Amino acid sequence: MYLERFGRLRKIGPFGKVNYHLKTLCICDCGKFTIVYDFCLYNGNTRSCGCLQREAAVKVGKGKRIHGITHTKFNKVWRGIKQRCYNPNNNDYNLYGARGIKVCRRWHEFLNFKEDMHLKYIIRCLLFGERDTTLDRIDNDGDYTPENCRWASVHTQVRNSRRIKPFVGTRISDGYSDNGLVQVDFAGKYGLSNSKICSCLRGYQKTHKGWRFSYINV
Ligand SMILES: [Zn+2]
Repeated sequence: MYLERFGRLRKIGPFGKVNYHLKTLCICDCGKFTIVYDFCLYNGNTRSCGCLQREAAVKVGKGKRIHGITHTKFNKVWRGIKQRCYNPNNNDYNLYGARGIKVCRRWHEFLNFKEDMHLKYIIRCLLFGERDTTLDRIDNDGDYTPENCRWASVHTQVRNSRRIKPFVGTRISDGYSDNGLVQVDFAGKYGLSNSKICSCLRGYQKTHKGWRFSYINV
C-alpha cells in the first residue's frame, strides 16, 4: 500500500476541516496516529506526530534511541516470537521452538520485521483495535516469515493454534459421528450451540440436542 510521505508521516486521508483548513489523518513511523493540517504537510512544518521533537530532546539528555518503538506492543510481538522459538525456558517453547519452528533470518533484525509488518499492523489496529490484532502463522507448521504471517484476530489465532484439541461429536439417534477441531465451527455446521458443546466436552452436561461429545486423544 502506497501512502504519500512527509518526513515521518504518511498520509491516510482527509479528516474534516477546521476554519476551512483541511485536516488529514496520518500515521507516524513511531506507530502513532495524528491529525494535522494538510497545508502543514506541504509547507514542511509538520513532519512527525511530535516524536521527532521528543527524540531530539532525549538525544540531548540520554543519548540515542534506535527506533523509538521499543516499548510498544508491536515490539513486544517481535520479542515474543523470538522467545517462543529460541528460549527453552519460555512457557510456549514446546509449541514452537521444540517443534522446529523458527524466525526467518531477516526477522532476527527488528527493523526488518518492522519494515515488513508495521504498516499492516497499524492499519489492522485502526480497523479492529490493537487488542484484537495478533500475529498469526497461516501454516501452523511453518516458520515466522513474511510469507507465512499475517495480522489476524485473536479468534483466528486460537483456531489455528496447536492448543486446540480435536473432538468427536456423535448423534445418538443414528450413531452418525463427525470430528471437529473448533467448537464454534461444529456448532455452525449442525445448528448446535457452541457453549453447550464446550460444556459437554468439559463434562458439565452429557448431551446437547441429541449429540454426545468427547475429546480425541492424539
Ligand atoms: Zn511519531
